[in-house]
Order: sequence, then structure tokens, then C-alpha cells
Amino acid sequence: MGLDIQSEIDVVKVASSKINQVDFENLAFGNVFTDHMLMCDFKDGKWERPTIKPYEPFLLDPSAKVFHYGQAIFEGMKAYKDDNDDIWLFRPDENLDRFNKSATRMAMPEVPEHIFIDGLKEILKIEKEWVKKGLGNTLYIRPFMIAIGTGVIAQPSTQYRFMIILSPAKSYYSGEVKVIIAEHYSRAANGGIGAAKAAGNYSAQFYPTKLANDQGFQQIIWTDDATHTTLEEAGTMNVFFRINDTLYTAPTSERILDGVTRKSLIDLAKREGINVAVQPVLVSEIVEAAKNGSLKEIFGAGTAAVVNPIVGFSYQDVYYELPKTENSIALELKEKLTNIQHKLAEDTFGWTV
Ligand code: PMP
Repeated sequence: MGLDIQSEIDVVKVASSKINQVDFENLAFGNVFTDHMLMCDFKDGKWERPTIKPYEPFLLDPSAKVFHYGQAIFEGMKAYKDDNDDIWLFRPDENLDRFNKSATRMAMPEVPEHIFIDGLKEILKIEKEWVKKGLGNTLYIRPFMIAIGTGVIAQPSTQYRFMIILSPAKSYYSGEVKVIIAEHYSRAANGGIGAAKAAGNYSAQFYPTKLANDQGFQQIIWTDDATHTTLEEAGTMNVFFRINDTLYTAPTSERILDGVTRKSLIDLAKREGINVAVQPVLVSEIVEAAKNGSLKEIFGAGTAAVVNPIVGFSYQDVYYELPKTENSIALELKEKLTNIQHKLAEDTFGWTV
């Protein structure tokens, strides 16, 4: 595939940067974007030359397939700046790999490494001032691909657009998170697209999440679609349960996204000598553990928040509050992982690039 692709990238820079208009201390997550974006179209069976150009809206035909059939995928990753002003990515190959798995599942072309990774490195060089130093400062990276071919006929497009946009982010604190365990709605089903970062997975969650919000819960813990008896993900994060001193998390499957944070936390926890059990987690086990006091922590794991502690959950209209833990494994692992990401601790795993 690499043969027909020109490796160079065209760069058109903005006349003047808008960086001075940005209040980096008060950033709402995902609302501010940097000066430039990367764009690369797929046409006639091949990828064209990528371009880095000023961030701006673009026109699409109203019949573009992305609008009608939701042929769209995305990734979420971050860049970090160390004290020497060097910029680091965390396991970017994992994101490329997952992106291309998502692409295959959605009948879209794979994006070659030199467009995704080299393109990303190139735009990060241009936007280096947008990555701020210090724990808690990151640049959120959103690569995505949409079907831009036209025609309201339900068939895969022949034309696609791959893009990377960048958004400076402060460390993400979502406040107290109470969750409700799903008893009716599902995020994903066997044979479906739950393991892909397909746009429709996210819009499909909006309505049940809104219902949960109306009841005073911030997120839903998704259960398996067939029986609603096993716990799968929390909102748009993988989920961990600590019973006594063991961490439990579900194995990835066709229904569960293979999260980079999840797999990194598993490795990190094992290195720290923490017991980790990757196995299906039953709703009944968690309810029982909450009742007998052995359930110590629940937390979501994902790129945006890294680790998001959950304070309690509701199941069958009963609310179970988690105990306040002094020695939170969630927070210990979060600190260890963010220190590696920001190059404040030695990266013995070789995860940073
Ligand atoms: N599950 C879902 C459904 C997600 O959207 C995400 C965020 N990509 C995750 C889990 C966590 O994945 P990661 O750690 O790679 O961000």
C-alpha cells in the first residue's frame, strides 16, 4: 500500500496564531482547537498527499455518506511536554492499530502509518507552543475519518477524509461520578461495532445517558446486551472494580473497546504487585461485594480522564455508596501512569514516543 502514497506533507501556515487569545487555565475539555489541522483524502483507491493547513470549516455535499449512514470513526490520544520542552506521545501505535481495526469494521480504508503517525508528529512540531508543560496539561489529539463520497444509497463510500485536530486540555475532573447499572439499554452487542470507535456508538449512548442524568447519575455502567448480568464499560471508559485488594476488569471482546489506558493500568498494577483479575465481572458479585463491604473502589479508565473514580452505583433502584478509601489504588495508579506520560517517572515499559 505504501507504494502509491507520496510521503511528503504540504504545509500552509496561518498568518497569525490565535494562541494568545486562549486562556489555558480555564479550558473546557474539547472546545478550543489549535491553529492548524491535518487533512488527507482517499480517492480512486488511494490516499492523496496530506496537508497541514489552518483550522477552518470545510464544505461537504449534502448527500455525503457520513451524514446519512454514519460511516465515521475516530481516535482519542494525548501529547505531553516534559521539562526539556520535548513533546511525547503515549503508545501511539496502539491508537493507529485500533483506528485501522475500526476502519476495517466500518468498511473504510486503513490509514497508513506515515500519514497517521508521521502526519501527527509533523503537526505537533508546528503546534508545539500549544502543548503546555506540567502535570495536568496535555494536548488532546482527535484523529478521525469520515465518508465524503456522495449519494443517498446505503453502500460504503469510495471517498474518505482523514483528519487530525488538536485541542489543549487541562487535567479532566468530572466531579463526583455516580453511575447506574444498565438494565435495559445496551452499548454494544456481539457481532456489532462495540469494539470499534465508530461515531454511532457514541450517539447511541446519548439518549440512555440523558435518562440517567435526569435521575441524578453522571454515567451508565453498560452490561452485556443479552442478559444484562455482566459489567462491561463505564460511559466511554473501561471499568475496574476493586474487591478487597484485587482489581477486576472484563476481558475485551466484540462488545468492549480495547482501551489503551485499561491495558496500561493492568501492566502497571501487575508491576506494583497488585492482583489483577481479567475476567467477566457479574452484576450480582458487585452488588454482593457492596453489601458485605468488600467492594472498595470502582473506576473508569480512559485517555481523557486517565482514571475516573466512581463514588456509588444504582442497581434495581437501590443506591450503593462506596466507602471512602484512604489508600485508593485508582489514584495511585493514576499518579504512576500520568508520571510516565509526562516523563516524570522512568518509562520501563517503553510506552512513550
Ligand atoms: N471505552 C470506550 C467506549 C471508549 O470510547 C474509550 C475511549 N477511547 C475507552 C473505553 C478508553 O480507551 P482509551 O484508554 O484507549 O482512551
